[in-house]
Amino acid sequence: MSNQDECYLCGGIGEVETHTTDSVLVSVPCPECIAVELQEERAEELNKIKDLAMTAAAYLNQAAEDVADWGAYASEYFQEKHNLSFDIKLYQQRSNEFLAIAEGRASNIAAAQQGGNS
Ligand SMILES: [Zn+2]
Repeated sequence: MSNQDECYLCGGIGEVETHTTDSVLVSVPCPECIAVELQEERAEELNKIKDLAMTAAAYLNQAAEDVADWGAYASEYFQEKHNLSFDIKLYQQRSNEFLAIAEGRASNIAAAQQGGNS
C-alpha cells in the first residue's frame, strides 16, 4: 500500500469508478493498488524464504565443520573406510545449495523474483 499515494489509477483513494454492464456507476477497489499490494506481499514471502535458506546454509556449514572436527579423531583407516571426506563435501554442497537460494542464484527463485520486480 506504500505506493498508493502515487497511484496513477486512483490517485491514492484506493477505489476507482466504473460502469456496470447496465450502465450503473459503481466504485470498485483499485486494481493497480491491489496489484502493488500483491507484489509487496510476494516480495516479503521471498525474503522470508531467503532468510530461512540462509539459516539452513549456516547450519549445514556448521555441520560440515563439526563432521570434519569430530571425524579427525578417527584413524586414517576408518576415515577412509567410512569415506569421511565425502560426508564433509556433501554437507558443504548442501550448504552451498541453500546459499544459492538465499542469494537468489537458484533459477526458480531468480525467476520468481524477476516476476515480482517487474
Ligand atoms: Zn490505486
